Amino acid sequence: MKTLKVALKPSAKKKYARRAAAPGGRSPESSRIPLSEAINMVRSLDSKTSSYLQAMGEEMHALIRSLYPICRSITGNGVRETLRLINEQIPLQIFEVPSQTQVFDWTVPREWNIRDAYIKNRQGERLVDFQKCNLHVLGYSIPVHQEMTLDELKSHLFTLPEYPKYIPYRTSYYRESWGFCVSHEQWQELMARPDEVYEVCIDSSLESGSLTYAECFLPGQTEEEVLFSCQVCHPSLANDNLSGISLGVALAKTLEQSPRRYSYRFLFIPGIIGSITWLCLNESHLWRIKHGLVLNCVGDPGNIHYKKSRRGDAEIDQAITHVLKHHGADYSILDFYPYGYDERQYCSPGFNLPVGVLTRSQHGKFPEYHSSGDNLDFVRPEALADSYAVALLAIAVLEKNSVYINQNPKGEPLLSKRDLYSVRVGWLTDKDLEMAMLWVLNFSDGAHSLLDIAERSGIDFFRISLAAEKLKQANLLTGQQNGDK
Ligand code: ZN
Repeated sequence: MKTLKVALKPSAKKKYARRAAAPGGRSPESSRIPLSEAINMVRSLDSKTSSYLQAMGEEMHALIRSLYPICRSITGNGVRETLRLINEQIPLQIFEVPSQTQVFDWTVPREWNIRDAYIKNRQGERLVDFQKCNLHVLGYSIPVHQEMTLDELKSHLFTLPEYPKYIPYRTSYYRESWGFCVSHEQWQELMARPDEVYEVCIDSSLESGSLTYAECFLPGQTEEEVLFSCQVCHPSLANDNLSGISLGVALAKTLEQSPRRYSYRFLFIPGIIGSITWLCLNESHLWRIKHGLVLNCVGDPGNIHYKKSRRGDAEIDQAITHVLKHHGADYSILDFYPYGYDERQYCSPGFNLPVGVLTRSQHGKFPEYHSSGDNLDFVRPEALADSYAVALLAIAVLEKNSVYINQNPKGEPLLSKRDLYSVRVGWLTDKDLEMAMLWVLNFSDGAHSLLDIAERSGIDFFRISLAAEKLKQANLLTGQQNGDK
């Protein structure tokens, strides 16, 4: 299997390493601060938090705006242009996998590119114009250019009768076809003129080429990895695909500035065929993936929905559930089911990776889904920032979660002898911290992680983690990384 790797130019790499650098002399980016600082910003209960999150949301929305006009598909130049723009923000390695490469039960399809498409009336007016909205063309349409009657055209038109103002998003990747997507209102106008003759043109190509995807890899202290998977195959849809990309980029920018226990791998891949291709090319390295998240539809105003990994009890499932419980907004936890995004491939039985899905509104369950209604107004900066905060807190939990062993397990240790009684730290009262210390001491028996203790006690993880730090400093705990138990 031949895969072409395209490395980033050194000059570009240098650019991305600059702290708080913003391309084009814009204001410094909020995401380019270390994880610990970002966590303090997200958790502190003052005005700094809201202005930080507001700036984060604006930064993420700006990236979505720059990617929105591009016509993407599962292959082709739209994906390459998208990756080029992401590459301006974080260091990427870009891969080109040739058409016809066999990847498990699938074959990498021919590459699709499109330059123009329209339906013109007798007067030469473009009634349907790809240049105005790239959703108008059925994705992967084969080229066509001919005159036809409405009768001949009719079976190639797709609409959403239940949402008559929206243009639907449709594709036909694995069955050769062509078509146009129009609002139901426009479809009705066309149907009202049965004698019209149309010039129909789709200036596309479907040729041997490659499937393009990219990775941003941030090495940590261990080879163990946290995987984030973002889709890059939808055309002008803001929430579906682009919000996930903007969250992945924001998290990578923050993690790039931070010391990291885990290594982090961000994938920017086309849906289904991309994750299957990546899994096939990387099968021998999958043991490194300890936690993973698919990021998509994270910018709409709906509540967060977290879909658990197929395992159901993976540490990522536990971490996100815990964060959401203490986050203070409504949320839903869903059990795994074999439909949705790329978790279907990561959680297929041959891999069963600990990968969950972070979304706000669920796919297929909001009216704007897969239509022109999923636009730049539908995606809200405050929702993007909230999704960033939740993902960031979950990362911090994974980074800090450990199993410890109480060095004084026979009876409680005398805390006052060690200046651990009536200690006030930051936002915690004495009693808060004391209670957290008692929980950590009692359950640090080598079998319970800090996250287990946080869950069992009902105390926020970060308080439990702070208590463990204090106890470690007083030599009452010995550390043992979670993965080593
Ligand atoms: Zn979609």
